[in-house]
Amino acid sequence: MSTRDYIPYGRQKISEADKRAVLEVLESDFLTQGPVVPAFEQALADFCGAKFAIACNSATSALHVACLALGVEKSSVLWTSPITFVSSANCALFCGATVDFVDIDEQTFNMCPLALKEKLESAESKDELPDVVVVVHMCGQSADMKSIGELSKKYGFRVIEDASHAVGGSYYGQYVGSCRYSDVTIFSFHPVKILTTGEGGMAVTNDADLANMMVELRSHGITRDPERMESPPHGDWYYQQIRLGFNYRMTDIAAALGLSQFGDLNRRVEDRNRLAGSYDRLLTNLEVTTPFIKTGVVSSFHLYVIKLTDKKIRKTAFDMLREEGIGVNVHYIPVPTQPFYKRIGGWTEESFPKSTDYYQRAISLPMYPELTLEMQKRVVRTLAEALAL
Ligand SMILES: *Cc1c(COP(=O)(O)O)cnc(C)c1O
Repeated sequence: MSTRDYIPYGRQKISEADKRAVLEVLESDFLTQGPVVPAFEQALADFCGAKFAIACNSATSALHVACLALGVEKSSVLWTSPITFVSSANCALFCGATVDFVDIDEQTFNMCPLALKEKLESAESKDELPDVVVVVHMCGQSADMKSIGELSKKYGFRVIEDASHAVGGSYYGQYVGSCRYSDVTIFSFHPVKILTTGEGGMAVTNDADLANMMVELRSHGITRDPERMESPPHGDWYYQQIRLGFNYRMTDIAAALGLSQFGDLNRRVEDRNRLAGSYDRLLTNLEVTTPFIKTGVVSSFHLYVIKLTDKKIRKTAFDMLREEGIGVNVHYIPVPTQPFYKRIGGWTEESFPKSTDYYQRAISLPMYPELTLEMQKRVVRTLAEALAL
């Protein structure tokens, strides 16, 4: 491979076994609503130690049905982190609810529990407490779920974990998705994420009512379960629409890819951790902050984000890396500073100072299982040149 080859920031890994699994579905009786979606759901639920899993056609649709199942509606208030993909906040607006944000912890880039506590105290005095908090496990590192779980009990809000980055990561010995401190956990299977189904997502929960509701919501609000019908079934053909839902179903084609990929999830996370370790070592003498992982947490390292000490050189460094064929990226532009959010909430760059400071310094380095040490050395060499400009 020439040293000029482009290194993307993320890339899916598809094995021959993955291709065979997809082909098998294509040659079977069911392209959708067959046996593979439930098999993928069961595998992920068992792995996470959660009772129920509901596959959807994206994490965004899973977030939407999770919000609806939790009763989010027009009068509801949902809080999330500014440093996330827009879906974590958009899901509230899909339900007509109001969104607000809680600033991040500067070391982990996750929602800061202290900032959350302070915002809750002030919201309580104004009778504006949130109904739901969407906690994002940024880069694959679990947020401080013990503290957030305690606050949720004290102030009575429900918790959704947006674990789009974090499948295979763990928190004090339990895999992300155990829902020990939350109501629902969401995963994404977009191709840049740890596992992929092309497009796809999954909600996991231990609450049977929430699970039933999400199953109905992802398929038009329809049930075939006589127990959940409002009157006796007319016959075997019968189904009832008991609420308003969507077509958010995952296909069996997609689930076959996901289930096959899931087979080496632990290996994928180990590979990413090994790559993160190499970056940590290669970057020791550069003017950057490398990721800080808290005790008790295993990150799945969806992203490897460095922060530049000197934020003034971020753009030139980024441009030079891109010019040299290194596909760096920035995750994320603080959601409240997006034009749409500025319009509806009146936020500015000053509203969430830690998120803004993070945004001005952050660069995501390439991170995917097939990255080699040689490629990592080239990334770091180019970064060193860019910082010396
Ligand atoms: C990727 C991502 C999403 C959206 O996932 P889709 O499957 O593309 O809908 C939501 N939240 C976070 C934090 C993400 O990284």
